[in-house]
Amino acid sequence: MSLDLDITTDGVLTADTHLVQSWADLDFLKQSGQRTVIVGAEGAYVRDSEGNQLIDGIGGLWCVNVGHRRREIIDAITAQLETLDFYSTFYNFTHPAAAALATKLADLAPGTLNKVHFGNSGSVANETAIRILHHYYNRLGQPRKRRILCRHGAYHGSTHLTVAMTTPGYSQGWSREDSLVHHLRCPHHWREGQGMTEAEFLEVLKQDLRDTIQHYGAETIACFFAEPIMGAGGVIVPPEGYHQAMFEICRDHDIKYVTDEVVTSFGRLGHMFASEDVFGIVPDIITTAKGLTSGYQPLSATILSDEIHEVISGPGGMFFHGMTYSGHPAAAAAGLANIALMEAEQIPQRVRTTGKRFEGLLRQLDRHDIVGEVRGSHFMMGLEFVKDKATAAPFAPEDRIGLRLAREAQKRGLIARPLGNILILSPTLVMDEALIDRTAAILDDSIAAVQASL
Ligand code: PMP
Repeated sequence: MSLDLDITTDGVLTADTHLVQSWADLDFLKQSGQRTVIVGAEGAYVRDSEGNQLIDGIGGLWCVNVGHRRREIIDAITAQLETLDFYSTFYNFTHPAAAALATKLADLAPGTLNKVHFGNSGSVANETAIRILHHYYNRLGQPRKRRILCRHGAYHGSTHLTVAMTTPGYSQGWSREDSLVHHLRCPHHWREGQGMTEAEFLEVLKQDLRDTIQHYGAETIACFFAEPIMGAGGVIVPPEGYHQAMFEICRDHDIKYVTDEVVTSFGRLGHMFASEDVFGIVPDIITTAKGLTSGYQPLSATILSDEIHEVISGPGGMFFHGMTYSGHPAAAAAGLANIALMEAEQIPQRVRTTGKRFEGLLRQLDRHDIVGEVRGSHFMMGLEFVKDKATAAPFAPEDRIGLRLAREAQKRGLIARPLGNILILSPTLVMDEALIDRTAAILDDSIAAVQASL
């Protein structure tokens, strides 16, 4: 059966007046009428309704890691739906795909992170981590241990609690339920540590954490919650040794360490998980989504240490948590096929070379006057644009500098993501050298064009 969709630009735009876009300036969209209608995809490219082939420089939304329309994943989802379309993992029910994927994740995750709860988005994975930790401390007779330490610049999701955990700038004008959350300093040396060496700045960050623990009392703090590299906050790589230092302080105060690997896992930084392999720590919980299925199905996972699981599964309590679609069979099948593909094609290993080439070429864009900082790692990159390179003075919001750059890039065949004065690149992980070079060349031309227009 065909869905018989109207895929003409006009047809979609008429229907689209009923769609509330996510994370968008709705008034601007209404006034400008601007939309890009994506109608197809293949490998590292997407196709719009005007027939343009565009390099998918944002990998869907940091997620299409193995590239678009991979037959192996489509077939696995179809085969699963033909056998078992849906059953839940509530009560005593389970099914082969969810069980197999949980086993696979336990195998891939570091240390004793061996227990997996599934959800359907990164936000839900993070909510789950918090709910479980609160329950864990309740069971240990420490119900006051509830506070969550996050960082300015963080992005953890779009539900009520994960918005509160996200950097305050991302919910201006909206209600926030902040009572459980404290934001530590953003570990961005270039913006926050001016006049200090990276090592000096790290000492400031450590002291901020120690002071915060002292202020609230460790007996009221459940966890420290951190993306290994901040993503939607502008691709912020912390100072060398940051996670190890913060981890040690937390461990000394019985504060659990949660790494939000919604973006950084499944190959984007050259490893299945970044916590241990890139940053040298084994956290108490890892949350993941996006690259887990490469976006082919909505799926997330909250991966717990044996120790946490032991407490929450002890006698005399009920696990009052889970979503209807936790471990959905088609999503679990997509995750299994996606990981099998990554392993067969050694995608994380290849990213260590191709991602480094990408990073290296993007770093060279620093030669433009309006490029203030190029940052990130492998296929997770951000370029911040400044009005004055010497002082790092930012462009005004009304300059819409990121948007202008993204438009210039799109005209030249590349989708990049504007975020204020920052342009984010998080492409599929299957770009070959020629495509990587072309992407960098398009960015080069786009920056030159915007600079010339100022
Ligand atoms: N954590 C991080 C680090 C993210 O980047 C995102 C989404 N971009 C989320 C959590 C939330 O994921 P979702 O949009 O699937 O709820």
